[in-house]
This record gives sequence, structure tokens and C-alpha cells, in this order.
Amino acid sequence: MRKLIAGNWKMNGSLAANEALVRALLAGLGQPACDVAVCPPAAYLAQVQQLLAGGAAVALGAQDVSEHEGGAYTGNVSAAMLRDFGVRYAIVGHSERRQYQGETDLQVARKVQRALATGISPIVCVGETLAEREQGLTEFIVRRQLSAVMALNAARLADIVVAYEPVWAIGTGQTATPEQAQQVHAALRAQLKAASAAAAGVRILYGGSMNAANAATLLAQPDIDGGLIGGAALKAADFLTIVGACA
Ligand code: PEP
Repeated sequence: MRKLIAGNWKMNGSLAANEALVRALLAGLGQPACDVAVCPPAAYLAQVQQLLAGGAAVALGAQDVSEHEGGAYTGNVSAAMLRDFGVRYAIVGHSERRQYQGETDLQVARKVQRALATGISPIVCVGETLAEREQGLTEFIVRRQLSAVMALNAARLADIVVAYEPVWAIGTGQTATPEQAQQVHAALRAQLKAASAAAAGVRILYGGSMNAANAATLLAQPDIDGGLIGGAALKAADFLTIVGACA
């Protein structure tokens, strides 16, 4: 399976910083052994689309998508609008949105539905908090989050990407060990496989303080099919090293 490395820039960047970052990525990428995507803030999609134009090496992603098709939803950005800017992936259900915007499993499932209906591959984030892990609830939580998405999108599962992102590892520098991550990825794989043979081939990314130093061992795990990268995606050299670790 071809791996995917996607950079989640979160609410970082500026016209000048984005240009420098994208130019450095394109200059250093060569022929990557994996698929590569960057997910800038919505305000910069048009800029980054232009910077990437002409090179097929890096796909454009969004950090969210509205669950609504269009209309009176102030501040939302629809899947069709994202498509207008060449967006190929949309992160959906990131833990920061579940936590700060109160996104529910059902909303996440509806966002996935809207993305799929518009030809965008959703990157569906699931993950447990530290308290949930300490209570032994890790697999229960991630299965519950994924099953909401699966129930509403049963016919389109082959077109999603899943990202396992333990909340306690995001932005903390505390990475899941390769064994901890592999165990959860295997559980998610089994859940997908039980739905259909096509779903068994869904890429399951790991996210949570993946960096230039730990990427290779994480990516060597049998059920880790790539990475969703936050902090390290803002430094071209680090992001390129992670992409290189797919080889
Ligand atoms: C993320 O926010 O998706 C993420 C994985 O962040 P970081 O790599 O900074 O932990």
C-alpha cells in the first residue's frame, strides 16, 4: 500500500511563510516514495494551490469541511468550495475540533459524507484522551468514533483515510511507542476488514508528535500506512525527512 504523509499546518502561517515552506518542500521532494499532502488554513488554500500548481508531487488538503451542502452557515466552508480550489483531502474530526468546537461523532460522520459526495478523501481522525487510555478505554473509544463514520458511509469506505491520533500525543512531544500505535492500528484494521475487503485497504495514518527522529520506526509497523504531521510539518527539512522515511 502506498503510504501518505499529510502535513496539518493548523492555524499557522502567513503569505510569506507559506511561500517559503512550499518552495522548500517542492525543491527538496524529488520523487517521493509516498503520497504527500499539505493542509493549510482555509484562508490560504488559493495561495497554496497556486504555489503547488504544475507539480503533481504534493496534494492540497483542508483542515475541516462543513457537514452542510451550502446556505446560511456563517463561517463554514463547503466541500464544493474546497473542490473549487483543487482540494483532494480534508481532515475531519481532528481532536482539537472535537474539543474546542464540540464536534460529535455524528457531525464527523456527516462531514465525511459531504466530502465523499464531492470527491474529496476525508482523513478521519480518531483517538483517545490520556484519561481514557488510563482507564483501558482506548480501543473502545477509537472503535466508537470510527463506527459512527462507517455506519453513515458504508458504501464509500474504500475512499476514506483514517488517522489514529492519541490526544495525549498531539503537540506534546509525547509520541505513542511503535507498539502502542501498532496495537490500535491493528484494531482499526480489523474493524474496517469486518466491513468489507475494500475497507481493509484503507490507509491508517499515525499522528501525534511524529517527527524526523521517530518517523522511520513508526512507519515500519505493519499497519501504519503514513502520518498526519502537525508541528514537524512547519519545518521543511523535518517534513522532508519524514517523507523520506517512507522509502
Ligand atoms: C496533529 O495535530 O494532527 C498532530 C499530529 O500534531 P503534532 O504532530 O504536532 O503532534
